[in-house]
Amino acid sequence: MKLILLGAAGSGKGTMAKKIAADFNVPQISTGDMFREIAKKGGELGEKVKSLMESGALVPNEITFEVLKQRLKQKDCKKGFILDGFPRSLAQAEMLQKLTDIDAVISIELPFKQLEQRLVSRRICPKCGDIDNASYQGYTGNCRKCGTKLFQRDDDKPEAIKARLEVYKKDVTPLIDFYGEKVMTVSSAGSPDETYAPVKTFLSKLEAKA
Ligand SMILES: [Zn+2]
Repeated sequence: MKLILLGAAGSGKGTMAKKIAADFNVPQISTGDMFREIAKKGGELGEKVKSLMESGALVPNEITFEVLKQRLKQKDCKKGFILDGFPRSLAQAEMLQKLTDIDAVISIELPFKQLEQRLVSRRICPKCGDIDNASYQGYTGNCRKCGTKLFQRDDDKPEAIKARLEVYKKDVTPLIDFYGEKVMTVSSAGSPDETYAPVKTFLSKLEAKA
């Protein structure tokens, strides 16, 4: 099962990817993880990615494509994969199409107001990267894992959220058109389990057909 997962930050995309990965036995592949992995491995491609990452530059499409090609050849992708955060543009989708056929695209949608509510209370640990939520019960302002004082990313402030969501929509709309009937749209307004239930049903049917 070859899947693409689309969803803005705060939409519950990460949680959804983990649930699908566990139930359908396919790896969750994010470009960030993929780049870190190959940078660690070294080699010509690894070194190139490493220096791009260190300079803070965006990894160009051609290199992303090469890295993805190698990643999808690995044994754990035999039964399929979930692409998380890729493609983000029509050009990337067209590249991916040359590599493999995607079975389905899950697009997670959440009304802006709710997305904003989730993100404005998000707090991050500067030391270990753990994410907490200031609206949760038992929130102390310090990291649950290492005790460091948590902070709010500028990205998670209301005005930045609005701008980010607009960028996201602009990026994703052509992708939704590109994948057409393969797209399943799901609202994540409910709990993570409520959001996942129709996706699980959809994917089970898809798996049975294959
Ligand atoms: Zn921490």
